[in-house]
Amino acid sequence: MRTLDSNTSLRIAVQKSGRLTDKTLNLLEGIGLKFDDYKRSLLVKCLNFDVELLLIRDDDIPEYVEDGVCDLGFVGGNTVAEDEADVTILRGLNYGVCRLSIAVPKNENINKPEDLAGKKIATSYPVLTRKFFESKGIDVNIVTLSGSVEIAPRLEIADAISDLVSTGGTLKANGLIEIDKIFDSETQLIQTNKPLSEGKQQLIEKILQRIEGHKKAAESRYIMMNAPQESVPEIKKIIPSLKSPTVMPLADNGMVAIHTVIPLSTFWDVMENLKEAGATGIVMLPIESMIV
Ligand code: ATP
Ligand code: ZN
Repeated sequence: MRTLDSNTSLRIAVQKSGRLTDKTLNLLEGIGLKFDDYKRSLLVKCLNFDVELLLIRDDDIPEYVEDGVCDLGFVGGNTVAEDEADVTILRGLNYGVCRLSIAVPKNENINKPEDLAGKKIATSYPVLTRKFFESKGIDVNIVTLSGSVEIAPRLEIADAISDLVSTGGTLKANGLIEIDKIFDSETQLIQTNKPLSEGKQQLIEKILQRIEGHKKAAESRYIMMNAPQESVPEIKKIIPSLKSPTVMPLADNGMVAIHTVIPLSTFWDVMENLKEAGATGIVMLPIESMIV
């Protein structure tokens, strides 16, 4: 078994320039890692942890991580699956969300994958596309293109495409409509299966914990309100709190201040119900990070 040099820094692969770059760097900075100017170099040292970033094309990330050149990588689930890389997916991260879909020219009377039997499908994702049609027992010809797949039908290179879609704007602009979905994707944090030193393993644990705290914080809000003392039992029922709320007496007789954390998704419902229960001066604040 090959062992990596335990003296080297934890090396993380990040897309050099593309849709995932800023979001990944913002996440790393959001969990407290500080970097030198990463626009100027391919290998960027972290200033406060034994970490370095390798900035490369996203397509190369799964392989670099599989080979152990990088210990971790941030890359689209679509790229990991297409590469069939032998890596461990540590966790999904809810950015870079998209889907690999089959799209056809409007008005072609093609409504389902079966209608594409014997036809040509252009894609940059031949592995995932082939697996999809094979699993349905549909015989198609796959034409692999490295980019601009959406114009293939107009150029009569293909009858349909299989391509990444997020809003659907590009498809629409090219007169295409989606007829089926092959794969749901989001950015993933992947780890090499090569053995790592104890120190690197501990650092990975720490990074994962911080990402968890960062995500929880992004999905939560700190709320504060004033309420009559007698409304407290009712208010406690409304608040889907992580813990029991903090209740503090106010100078005004019979009034209390209530502080707590709630999931962002419940915010509007909770606000309205609290108001009805007698709460006033309800204030909501974002949370930087939290450890629960
Ligand atoms: P590179 O130069 O690094 O090879 P690229 O052109 O292959 O870049 P991008 O277009 O930057 O890659 O996309 C990177 C990743 O962003 C995709 O692999 C996918 O996971 C994700 N993504 C999210 N939405 C979309 C979308 N609408 N189209 C393409 N990719 C998307
Ligand atoms: Zn790419």
